[in-house]
Amino acid sequence: MTRIHKIAVLTGDGIGPEVTEIAVNVLEAAKHTSDFELDLQYREAGYHCIAEYGTNLPEDTVSLLKRTDACLKGPMTTPEEPGAPVSVAVKIRKLFNLYANVRPCRTFPNVEALKPNIDLVVVRENTEGLYSGVEYEVSPGVGIALRIITKAACLRVAEYAFKLAQRRRKNLTYVHKGNILRITDGIFKDAVSETALKYPDVGTAEIHVDAATMHLIKKPESFDVLLTTNLFGDVLSDEAAQVTGSLGLAAGANIGDSYGMFEPVHGSAPKYTGLNRVNPIATIMSAHMMLDYLGEKEAAAKIETAVMEVLKEGKIRTADLGGSSTTREMGTAIAERVKSLP
Ligand code: NAD
Repeated sequence: MTRIHKIAVLTGDGIGPEVTEIAVNVLEAAKHTSDFELDLQYREAGYHCIAEYGTNLPEDTVSLLKRTDACLKGPMTTPEEPGAPVSVAVKIRKLFNLYANVRPCRTFPNVEALKPNIDLVVVRENTEGLYSGVEYEVSPGVGIALRIITKAACLRVAEYAFKLAQRRRKNLTYVHKGNILRITDGIFKDAVSETALKYPDVGTAEIHVDAATMHLIKKPESFDVLLTTNLFGDVLSDEAAQVTGSLGLAAGANIGDSYGMFEPVHGSAPKYTGLNRVNPIATIMSAHMMLDYLGEKEAAAKIETAVMEVLKEGKIRTADLGGSSTTREMGTAIAERVKSLP
């Protein structure tokens, strides 16, 4: 019997609509090679909604998300003024308790990286920390942001990261700043150490965040799973993406116990809007992660193989990879390759 997956598609702002459309084309190509259907439901979300709806995440969109199995989300522009709506990604992560932000980074064929054999995943706590959104200006020129860390949230993301490490090379490095943030990162460290006892087959190491930024450049190939808190994970995953070649290749998944949202690591890159110039692979690989999450392993693997083969051939290269191919040319090459795979 044909399996049907209901997917919410939020195309986003800036380059979001371009890269999301291409990822959807690749999903459609993958669908033709396997016995499943995608019921794609488009809704509005993002900066462009604020003028019309007074919010970047209209109620109608939230109610659709609740009726779907997963969400494919394009990047969105986040307003920065105090009091403006908080980021859509942050809202959805909190609404659906998507506590693990999973960001794989590895070397791709024909893509210049700092080292040849990088294959790591950043797992970032996704619901609290400095993203709690609790900030005050207590007097003019004096601000406070609350870094909320709970043992419960640390335990559940640690559990996810250890399970992931078990399926990979069985090494987990947890990143913190416990020498300075003794209480909040103390809670994080204790939760990770407690979880580690349940996974004796996973080698565990800890490292301060400042040292982690250096080691990501010096010996990125030494890392397998990097587990950390929200803001540190955001910074480290952008760094890891660049170390492996380009932010345009970095995919991301936001995983909870009953829902998943999939989006590229990069933002809406407004200056490239409509230029057909950016790399769609980050969003295509996010769609790949979504199919994997939905249990469509074979179709997911085909997308990954197609991306690798197109990059290996080296004929199609977007500007970030040193070439002059367009976003659509890259997307078409990958979609055609998916269709041609046995
Ligand atoms: P950005 O990731 O949008 O862009 C930074 C630079 O990275 C770009 O100038 C470009 O050189 C490169 N880049 C990004 N995507 C690329 C791609 N697909 N191919 C090739 N190169 C690419 O970061 P920013 O400029 O700091 O943020 C722009 C907006 O996006 C902001 O409003 C920010 O808040 C938002 N943002 C949203 C998300 C999200 O929706 N999850 C994530 C990050 C940033």
